[in-house]
Amino acid sequence: MRMTRFASSLLVLLALFACTSVAPAQNQPQPQPAPMPPPIPAPVDKPYTGPIALSVDISEVTDRVWKVHEEIPVEPGAKEMVLLYPEWIPGDHEPSGPISAIAGIVTTVDGKGAQWVRDRVNMYAFHVPLSAGAKTVGLDFDYLSPITPSSGRVEMSDAIADLAWNEVVMYPAGYFSRDIPLDVSLKLPAGWKYATALETASNQGDTVRFERTTLNTLVDSPLYAGVNYERIDLSPTATDIVHLDIFADKPEDLKMTPQELEAHKNLAAEADKLYGSHHYKHYDFLLLLSEKVGGIGLEHHQSSEDGLGADYLTDWDGSALDSDLLGHEYTHSWNGKFRRPADLWTPNFNVPMRDDLLWVYEGMTQYWGTVLTARAGMRTVEQTRDIFARTAAGFAISRGRDWRPLVDTTNQPIISQRAPVSWGSYERGEDYYDEGMLIWLDADTKIRELTNGQKSLDDFCKKFFGVYNGSFITDTYSLDDVIHDLNEVAPYDWRGFLEERVYKLHPDVPMNGFTQGGYKLVYTDKPAEWYEKDMTKLGFTSFPSLGFSLGSYRSKVESKNISDVAWGSPAFQAGITPGMEIVSVNGKEYTAQVLKDAILAAETSKQPIQLQFHKGDRYFTISMPCYDGMRYPSLERVDGTPDRLDDILAPSKSPLPAM
Ligand SMILES: [Zn+2]
Repeated sequence: MRMTRFASSLLVLLALFACTSVAPAQNQPQPQPAPMPPPIPAPVDKPYTGPIALSVDISEVTDRVWKVHEEIPVEPGAKEMVLLYPEWIPGDHEPSGPISAIAGIVTTVDGKGAQWVRDRVNMYAFHVPLSAGAKTVGLDFDYLSPITPSSGRVEMSDAIADLAWNEVVMYPAGYFSRDIPLDVSLKLPAGWKYATALETASNQGDTVRFERTTLNTLVDSPLYAGVNYERIDLSPTATDIVHLDIFADKPEDLKMTPQELEAHKNLAAEADKLYGSHHYKHYDFLLLLSEKVGGIGLEHHQSSEDGLGADYLTDWDGSALDSDLLGHEYTHSWNGKFRRPADLWTPNFNVPMRDDLLWVYEGMTQYWGTVLTARAGMRTVEQTRDIFARTAAGFAISRGRDWRPLVDTTNQPIISQRAPVSWGSYERGEDYYDEGMLIWLDADTKIRELTNGQKSLDDFCKKFFGVYNGSFITDTYSLDDVIHDLNEVAPYDWRGFLEERVYKLHPDVPMNGFTQGGYKLVYTDKPAEWYEKDMTKLGFTSFPSLGFSLGSYRSKVESKNISDVAWGSPAFQAGITPGMEIVSVNGKEYTAQVLKDAILAAETSKQPIQLQFHKGDRYFTISMPCYDGMRYPSLERVDGTPDRLDDILAPSKSPLPAM
């Protein structure tokens, strides 16, 4: 057992404590906690006194300082107004409102200066004193949109902007966000076009005025703007209600081939067939293709923010790893936005969210996003099986499963704020996404098995998400509601099924979905070529039999830097840690191919591989007895069993529902 630095410093601390815990001299009193300031007014479901006028100016492309002005009506008789900057952003699953990026806050009351005071406890709350009979609070502030990735996700280039309204608005405490009306205007860079789920009231030069909306809908309706823009109708019928709004840094990156257009249209049709309903007036996929603006996937009720690399369309064959993004975010219009866990729904954007049902919200969305992508032909069935196999194999080497139930990983966004950690496989990351996907595959194949193929998780979707067709008022649910509707589709011990997989320790990866689907997970020395190619393009190389990975996702360059080491793996046992650089393999300069060749050779020669590493000013060589080969995972058909998995991934045979 080795003593960590933390343990040794704890001993020193305990020793110090022992020395200082003596009786106070001269009867000096012990300190007592100071009283907390009064709480921020809790949200109440009552109409706000009048519309807030919100003007936002994002016309400065160079400095990317977005200017905000608000005129906020005062509730008659109020003595102060508490302004809130949104903290809990739906879809982020954590308190991520970028409070550190606002500056230049100035408040007035009826045109006269009135100094704001930030709350001493809640950094997102600002108190504005009101004079008797005050009518309007004026507010100006700047949002400093990140210029480099080191200060946050870059949201603007000289050709594209991704405007999330929660970054450019404050609102009075004490109200539900759905009860606060706003009249919004936006000044764009000269000549830029825009797309949003908001309804336009008028355009004057580069200034847009939107129809009156609520704070709830505004924050749920981001706006993309840019120089190069293409709007494509994806509606499955002649309704013209589903659009792909593409913005790119370069005009040539906007072009779709007929095959790509067909696949994207199929996605909208397959979703209609699956859910038999929709919950929007019209839906806009806001898609940005850029190497300058940061990637994103964020769900909204009537739109989604989808940020991918510049070559998503121009290298379609090499985009298979990313091609489920639109299916995932579109599914959220039903799962997450329309139907939402009751404790995740909040009345405004400064009430904490509870993430414990994200394995339904995100896990089932990951499942349906993956399945719909295959049904639409945006990924082949073989590629989809490879994704399932890779997912299960990745979890199989994660030792975090030994101590942490899946449900606890739903807290991970709040715990880690999505910052990188040193030993991700020991801590477990946000496994509720991908392991959730495997659990819902398990449930889908189980329903098919129980009903002799008469019912499936498709039926659950129609029942659970298909209510109140056309409505986009959120309908909340509990775990009991999920279990109830599963039982309506196919009676079974669904509570026990979910208890075992989600709420208890489950050291084994849930792979019943493969067995019930007619497949088994196997490891071979032959890679899925498309996967290897795509990962290399992204700049990421993985050696699962050794237990380490190199490079970072999307760096797009081959790297020699160890980015991750699986806890308990051969590399871990040999003392390899993230941050080291691999130098050579059996005396030859490292390349990914040289190491692959060495691993395959060792499988037959049974001779340890000599790996040289570099860290700081040290070079050292490690001898690794690794004879398992490359261990590329794939799904192998089990002859004589029902091929339920391929049935799930095939285009739906149902007709398009009339909606
Ligand atoms: Zn999601």
